[in-house]
Amino acid sequence: MQPTGRRTSKMERKHVAVIGAGVLGLTAALELARQGHGVTVLAKDLPGDWTIDYASPKAGAHFRPTAVTNAQEAFENTLMHETYAKLSEICRTESTSGVEFVPAVEYFDAELGPRDLEMFSAWPRFRVLGPSELPQSSTIKAGLTYSAWVLNSPVYLVWLQRRAEAHGAIFFREHLTSVQEAFFLAAHHNSTQPPPCAVVNASGMGFADPNCFPSRGQFILISNEYNRTVSHHAADGNATVVIPRPLGGGTVIGGTKEPHNWSPLNSDAAVDEIVRRVSALCPDLLQPIAGSLDPTPVLDCQEAYIGRRPMRSGGLRLETEFIDLITTGRTGLDTETSTLPVIHCYGAGPSGYKISWGAAQRVTEMVNSL
Ligand SMILES: Cc1cc2nc3c(=O)[nH]c(=O)nc-3n(C[C@H](O)[C@H](O)[C@H](O)COP(=O)(O)OP(=O)(O)OC[C@H]3O[C@@H](n4cnc5c(N)ncnc54)[C@H](O)[C@@H]3O)c2cc1C
Repeated sequence: MQPTGRRTSKMERKHVAVIGAGVLGLTAALELARQGHGVTVLAKDLPGDWTIDYASPKAGAHFRPTAVTNAQEAFENTLMHETYAKLSEICRTESTSGVEFVPAVEYFDAELGPRDLEMFSAWPRFRVLGPSELPQSSTIKAGLTYSAWVLNSPVYLVWLQRRAEAHGAIFFREHLTSVQEAFFLAAHHNSTQPPPCAVVNASGMGFADPNCFPSRGQFILISNEYNRTVSHHAADGNATVVIPRPLGGGTVIGGTKEPHNWSPLNSDAAVDEIVRRVSALCPDLLQPIAGSLDPTPVLDCQEAYIGRRPMRSGGLRLETEFIDLITTGRTGLDTETSTLPVIHCYGAGPSGYKISWGAAQRVTEMVNSL
C-alpha cells in the first residue's frame, strides 16, 4: 500500500507511525492509541533489548529537578511537572508498572544558594537537612530532601508497550534509514488502517541531526535493595548517584557524564571508584551477599554497563516539520510528491523519563491538530 499524503479532519481517527520504542516513543504511542488513533511502532530496539544506543533501559531511572536558566529549560520543566503528576497517578493505580515514590536525598560540597533552593523547593516534601543529618564527611557542606519517583526501567518499558498494545498499537522491529521510510513501512505492516497521516520521530538522536551527540554514562547494577535515592555533588563537578529499582530490581549506582565519548568499553578504574564512593556515601546500603557464607557487607555488583544519553544542543526537539514524500505514481513508472507531517520528539538527553508524559501529551495534541 502507498502513502497518499491525504490530510485528515480534526475528529477523524488517524493512523500514526511512531519511530522508536524508547520511553518517548512508547509513551507517545500509548497516549495516541489511548485517544483512539491507530498506531504502528517501528523500532530497531524494542523493550527487552539491551544495546548501547538504546538509552531507555539503561536509565536509573529517577526524578531529580534541573536548573531553569532559559526558555527551553522552562518548557522542559513544565513537561517534568506534568510527568511527575502522571507518574504519581500510575504509582497509585498500577502496581505492576515498576513506579514508586521514595525520599530523595542530595548532598553538596558547597553551601546551598538561592538558585538551588528555588530549583528544589518546588517539589513535594522538600526540606533542607540539618547538620546532624549530613554524613560524617570532610567535604559535604549541605543537604536537602524531597519526594522523587523511581522506576524499574526495563519493567516500565514492557509495561508501556503492553498498555499501548491493549489500546491497539502494534510493534515491528525495523531499522529505518530515513524518516520517509516510516510512511511506507507502517502502511505495509498495518494495511487494515488508512495510510499513516503522520510520523512521530522518537528515534533518540534523530536521523543525522548534527546537533545530537551522546553523553556516555558508566553505571553499575547491584543486587542490594535500598529505600531512597542519594546524590552527592562534589566540588569538582562529579556526581555520585544511588537509585533503587522497584519490584526487586536491585539498585543502580553511578556514574559518569562524558559528552561526545563514543567508547563502548567499561573502565575498571571508573567501576572501582564508583563502588568506593557509594560505599563511603551509603554504608547502610552494604549487605552480605544472599546465600554466601561470608557475612561481610558488600555491594553485590551484577553488571557494569555503559549507556549513551541522547543529547541535543538546544534541548528536546518537539515540533512538527512538513517533509516531501516521493511515492510511485499511478503508472508505476513515474513518481508523485506529497507533503506530510513529521512530529519530532527526540534529543531528551538526561531527562527522557522526566519529560515523557508531558511530551506525549504535546505529540498527541500535534497529531489531533493535523
Ligand atoms: C545511564 C543513564 C542514566 C539515565 N538516567 C535517567 C534518569 O534517572 N532519569 C531520566 O529521566 N532520564 C535518564 N536518562 C536519560 C534517558 O534514559 C533518555 O533521555 C531516554 O531514555 C531517551 O528516550 P528515547 O525514547 O528518546 O530514546 P531511546 O531510549 O534511545 O530509544 C530510541 C528508539 O529509537 C529507535 N531507533 C533509533 N534509530 C532508529 C532507526 N534508524 N530505525 C528504527 N529505530 C530507530 C531505537 O531502536 C529505540 O527504540 C539516563 C540515560 C542513561 C544512558
